[in-house]
Amino acid sequence: MISVSKPIIGDEEIEAVVAVMRSGIIAQGPKVKELEQNFAKYCGTRHAIALNSGTAALHGGLYALGIGDNDEVITSPFTFVASANPILMLGGKVVFADISEENFCIDPLEVEKQITNKTKAIIPVDLYGQIYDYRKIKKIADQYSLKLLEDACQSIGAIQDNVLAGSFGDAAAFSLYATKNMMCGEGGMLTTNDDDIAERCRRFRHHGQSEQTRYEYWDIGFNYRMMDIQAAIALVQLNKIDDLNKKRIDNAKKLTAGLVGIKGLILPKIPENDRHVFHQYTIRVTEDFKITREKLIESLKKDDIGAGIYYPKPLHLHPHFSKFGYAPGDFPVAEKMANQVLSLPVHPGLTDNELSLIIDSIRKYA
Ligand SMILES: *Cc1c(COP(=O)(O)O)cnc(C)c1O
Repeated sequence: MISVSKPIIGDEEIEAVVAVMRSGIIAQGPKVKELEQNFAKYCGTRHAIALNSGTAALHGGLYALGIGDNDEVITSPFTFVASANPILMLGGKVVFADISEENFCIDPLEVEKQITNKTKAIIPVDLYGQIYDYRKIKKIADQYSLKLLEDACQSIGAIQDNVLAGSFGDAAAFSLYATKNMMCGEGGMLTTNDDDIAERCRRFRHHGQSEQTRYEYWDIGFNYRMMDIQAAIALVQLNKIDDLNKKRIDNAKKLTAGLVGIKGLILPKIPENDRHVFHQYTIRVTEDFKITREKLIESLKKDDIGAGIYYPKPLHLHPHFSKFGYAPGDFPVAEKMANQVLSLPVHPGLTDNELSLIIDSIRKYA
């Protein structure tokens, strides 16, 4: 079976874990600190704070930005649920803005339409590994004095206009979950250039205590700490991330070369100033394709090829969001994309032979 995602784990990762296990410091310790320093250096930000998931990073980031009761935060309805849940966790209101067909990311024109005097922040999502339209969103954020928290959970190493993902906006959240481009099983990072945001997030992950004065609780906090065991894996992966991303980008090029020209398929488009890091290689299966998307998935499965739908139902149609008054038809582009997208295997573990099998299989059903 050619799986749609696969963690790439070498001997170095295994040895790094064993070394931590033998060191006597297993929970947050020197490896986490080292990861924070190296990660900030990689992203080109002043700070990086390690947490135990991307969700925790988004939660801590929103908290650090001061989001609370009844504050409105605008985000995409076409993303993983963790982009939006932290807004609700802090008592805020989720306001969706439709996406663009070009890059599956939030559409600046739609964002502007959703702004009210209660809007406090925007969470743009770098979906599939491609950065959102930063210039236009940033202009809107500045014009209306809104905070910008980038959901970079899928985009480590992505670039737009020579700037790396994670250094756009006031803060950015990354996930190191097992299927992400860089991973440590479970983990997250928050990057920021702002000393105050960094300190507030550090307290939030550690029960509201500052790291200097224990048992002095500044505010409510969580236990969102990362373990040194996880950090040790992440440190090895950070050294490899550019190679891992390069392999994904090469694989994407090969898939595009093999699939170009098939009637009814729309392939990923990459703007000139972007490095898309292909967390997912996502095509659109339109009505002009010979069989339905669901039939195509079944057929690929028969050929031992995995494929995934990210995401089958936009967030506004799930009960804990739709209860705020959302209904089908509210975000037509997101709804249309949910019916068309199909992600094919693109991970760095694929061989050329496997890539050819994927292409041949799709051509056979086209
Ligand atoms: C993976 C992911 C998250 C959540 O990260 P976890 O580490 O699983 O908590 C949030 N947003 C997006 C877009 C993601 O892909």
